[in-house]
Parts: sequence; C-alpha cells; structure tokens
Amino acid sequence: MDRVAVCPGSFDPITYGHLDIIERTSKVFDKVYVSVLKNSSKPGLFTPDERVELIETVTQEFPNVEIRQFDGLLVDFCKDVGAGAIVRGLRAVSDFEYEMQLTSMNRKLDSTIDTIYMMTNNNYSFISSSIVKEVAKYDGKVEDVVPPEIEVALKKKFNHE
Ligand code: ADP
Repeated sequence: MDRVAVCPGSFDPITYGHLDIIERTSKVFDKVYVSVLKNSSKPGLFTPDERVELIETVTQEFPNVEIRQFDGLLVDFCKDVGAGAIVRGLRAVSDFEYEMQLTSMNRKLDSTIDTIYMMTNNNYSFISSSIVKEVAKYDGKVEDVVPPEIEVALKKKFNHE
C-alpha cells in the first residue's frame, strides 16, 4: 500500500524552509500532497491560486509531489486523498506550543491520522513567509531564502521590477 502524506500550510509564499520539508517528506513517503490552506480570514499577499502555481513551479523535480488547495478540516482533506500522516516542520521552541495544540486537536478529530514533525535544516530555522514578505516589501535581498521564481513573483507584487 502506498504511504501518503500531507504537508499543509499557508505557503504565502513558499520558502526554502518549506521546500526542504517537502523534499525530505517526498523521500520518506510514496506520495505527498502539499495542501494550501484557503483562509478567508487571512487574505495573504498571494491568492491561493498564485501560491499553488508558485509551489508547482519550484517542486517540479519531485515527481511524487502534488499541490492542492483546501478549506475545512485538515483531517477531512487527509481522508479524501488517503493520507495517513500530516508532516509539519519545526523551527524553534516558539513553534512548539502551537504545534502541540494543532496535533492534539487533529488527533481528537481523527486518531487514525498521525502528525510527524521534521526538524528544520539549521540554515532555514529563521525563515518565515512573514519575514520574507517584510524584507521583499522594501526591496531587500531574499535570494538566500526563497527560490529565484519566488523572488521574481515578490518583486512583481511589490512593484520593484
Ligand atoms: P502555517 O500558517 O500553517 O504555519 P506556514 O506556511 O507558515 O503555514 O508553514 C507550513 C509548514 O511549514 C509548517 O509546518 C511550518 O512549521 C513549516 N515551516 C515554515 N517555515 C519553515 C522553515 N523555515 N523551516 C522548516 N519548516 C518550516
């Protein structure tokens, strides 16, 4: 039986930190769904469609990775795609408390789906989409933290072309 995992998140936009977790997950599981949360209360910089397109562009080299959008409950999405695991990245202790709450709630909702955490690659432990957006807004250098295609998309968004 295929081992299927879901990597959920906002990905607004995808960074090298996310990409590292997706790549490592794709080596451990047969199939990986990257699920982009459509969150109406948090509009974000990029639309869900734009985020999906950007993720597709930078994950082309991983044949077992597929990008989807979802709203509603993550456990329902997992059931829909036949995933037995949710994979998340852990950066620092500050991530821990929120992730504990998320995992406990998801386990209550569906105890058959487990959440697995991957420790971030040290090089990426201080990268977040919010910081990337803040730097890009003022035309700062983000080439070390996001792939070139994302850098271009950020420049376009902030009219820094
Ligand atoms: P969310 O709003 O659900 O936290 P994010 O897009 O911020 O969505 O993050 C999605 C996933 O990627 C989470 O598991 C998060 O911990 C992980 N992640 C984000 N940035 C990094 C990073 N720099 N290194 C490792 N994992 C990361």
